[in-house]
Amino acid sequence: MVTRYIFITGGVTSSLGKGLASAALGALLQARGYSVLLRKLDPYLNIDPGTLSPYEHGEVFVTDDGTEADLDLGHYERFTGVSARSSDYVTTGKIYSTVLSRERRGDYLGATVQVIPHITDEIKSFIMRDTENADFVLCEIGGTVGDIEGLPYLEAIRQLRNDLGRERTLFVHLTLLPYIATAGELKTKPTQHSVKELLSVGIQADILLCRSDRPIPQEAKRKLAQFCNLASDNVIAALDASNIYEVPLQYHAEGLDRQVCHHFCLDESASDLAQWQGIQTQLGAANKSLKIGIVGKYTQLLDAYKSLIEALNHAAIPLGLKLDLVWIDSQDLDQLHQKLKDVKAILVPGGFGERGIEGKLEAIRFARENKVPFLGICFGMQLAVIEACRNQLGLAQASSTEFGPTAEPVVGLMREWQSEAGIQTRTESSDLGGTMRVGSYPCRLMPHSLVHTVYNADLIQERHRHRYEVNTHYIERLAEAGLKCSGLSPDGVLPEIVERADHPWFIGVQFHPELKSRLFEPHPLFSAFIKAAMA
Ligand code: GLN
Repeated sequence: MVTRYIFITGGVTSSLGKGLASAALGALLQARGYSVLLRKLDPYLNIDPGTLSPYEHGEVFVTDDGTEADLDLGHYERFTGVSARSSDYVTTGKIYSTVLSRERRGDYLGATVQVIPHITDEIKSFIMRDTENADFVLCEIGGTVGDIEGLPYLEAIRQLRNDLGRERTLFVHLTLLPYIATAGELKTKPTQHSVKELLSVGIQADILLCRSDRPIPQEAKRKLAQFCNLASDNVIAALDASNIYEVPLQYHAEGLDRQVCHHFCLDESASDLAQWQGIQTQLGAANKSLKIGIVGKYTQLLDAYKSLIEALNHAAIPLGLKLDLVWIDSQDLDQLHQKLKDVKAILVPGGFGERGIEGKLEAIRFARENKVPFLGICFGMQLAVIEACRNQLGLAQASSTEFGPTAEPVVGLMREWQSEAGIQTRTESSDLGGTMRVGSYPCRLMPHSLVHTVYNADLIQERHRHRYEVNTHYIERLAEAGLKCSGLSPDGVLPEIVERADHPWFIGVQFHPELKSRLFEPHPLFSAFIKAAMA
């Protein structure tokens, strides 16, 4: 099988939605019967985004095999249904650390280690590694053309064009055509400059994907084609969409996948987008609105909750619902109750650190006492346990050691756990980066529990990203307070799920179910949560 490589770069400005564009192109190729793999190469120096604040880089996505990755991998998975692996995400930090450890081992046999060829070779081998039987590998290069950090990546993909030939490589460049009101025109100049910038490092864009808030006149396409050395069919409009699930359909209508096939001399005719059209029909018919309250610390930057928002939407679409997500800042106690009273269900998502926990604990108490459907995710579950200990068991000191030493460590540092690679151990002095319990782990569900009904399974696999765990010493007392442990790691050591028998729908999970929800496969926990909110 011939694997073809599509490289997606961005120009003019960041935030044009390169991740979504890559995911949409992946979906379009699948709709033509091809298998795809999507990869992201991020030019920053962090080894992974795990140590970055959500304000810096949005949510940290987690793969089954335990890589902390950029949130674009979430777009890829949700649009294509293909689970990302650690071989699908790399940063400059990771590339350098591989090359430097090789240098320390003496593997370069006395050679001077340089950006070209050593760093670029490592980037090339990352791109080509583990591509198995994929018809297409789509590689998104993070950042914007012209960034100093991005140069080694551009050099690597330039070389790959040379190594593999035009018939196995394609360069897609995503840019912006700004509309200038006083001129009454969409401007092509920034795109022309960006294409030239690419050309200056030896890359001729094959397809231009032009973000624009209005249709692009034929004349502008012709101009861009002429100045950028392209056929005008390869200048493709990427118009603002009314919802992200419309993007593949729009690109298709503009001929993106047809032009990709044309480039590779593949059949340009057959494509089946019925599933995607079905989503638009469902969205068009959605007529009921439902308010869900989300109590978190990063409500100013919704990218921090990307997968969560998507998972809720996936569950709502087949139910004919339009979700009205009410963002409740856990640090603003004044507005908390007012907003909580207004919602049909309450969700406390993952989080880190003590700041803002009072608001979250209060929201959990409100959900428990008023029988409002509640879902606590990771930190949200840990706080549900702390809330029960403090307010029901009278353990005023109940806390997590994440917030400092405490007399009642109902949530404590995970010191040891079983992973596929063997026993993992941690102490207070372990590094913060790359040392959490990350990735897919099994969880056994208690028979006759609510979660058992929700999943209709005995054993599930979910993705984790946490450093602390519920202290099993408190499990029995918690059960007396009505909060029972209904999911455990198969060795019985780690509490994975808690739920309340005295409440219509109250579940806390130590993992992140939102990371496994897909557009065409909503996650059962979110579907059940939303159904409970509708009841
Ligand atoms: N801060 C908590 C922990 O490390 C929860 C993490 C999370 O919500 N992802 O265990």
